[in-house]
Amino acid sequence: MAVPQNKITKSRRNMRRAHDSLVPGNPAECPNCGELKRPHHVCGACGHYADREVVAQADEIDLDDDAA
Ligand SMILES: [Zn+2]
Repeated sequence: MAVPQNKITKSRRNMRRAHDSLVPGNPAECPNCGELKRPHHVCGACGHYADREVVAQADEIDLDDDAA
């Protein structure tokens, strides 16, 4: 089994981990509904992207048409 030749000191280990933290996202406000959304992604709240609806929302689909 491979064994490290030299001990990694707490200092060197912590210096390596200094770049491991997660960075927060950069949420942007949806121009249609005002919800915070990821930039360059469809709004999860209203389904709009670039001022037009590209994903229909579930409450707008009438599923009872086939039952009648
Ligand atoms: Zn929206």
